[in-house]
Amino acid sequence: MHEMGITRGILEAAFEAAEERGATRIAEIRIRVGELTEIVEFALQFAFESLTPGTLAEGAKLAVEHVGARSRCGRCGTEFDHGRFDALCPECGNPFNEPVAGRELLITSIDIETPEGLADALEDPGPAAGAVAAGEE
Ligand SMILES: [Zn+2]
Repeated sequence: MHEMGITRGILEAAFEAAEERGATRIAEIRIRVGELTEIVEFALQFAFESLTPGTLAEGAKLAVEHVGARSRCGRCGTEFDHGRFDALCPECGNPFNEPVAGRELLITSIDIETPEGLADALEDPGPAAGAVAAGEE
């Protein structure tokens, strides 16, 4: 399953960021997923639940924020939102457009717990290692 490898990449990046801060537990991982990556959230959640027992992220929540597809017209420069299969420019009908959004796959933040009992939110821990190129091929 495609999502299994992606989830592994997300977790590796999360563990690295959490261990750097001396975290004893990861409470929540928030990720942003573009529509064009064709990642299925159900499969991500399934992979997350299979991979986290016995790790820092056992019992953690995976929160997925979906980002719609958006492109810029290569002819007239119009930026527009579209679905996965209908990326025609609404102004001039040009099908050759430059993607602006929708291919993202990144961790936006991680909530951790430290030995002092402090909850800490790691903002912008960086792209998920090994998961960045998903949907690029
Ligand atoms: Zn156009």
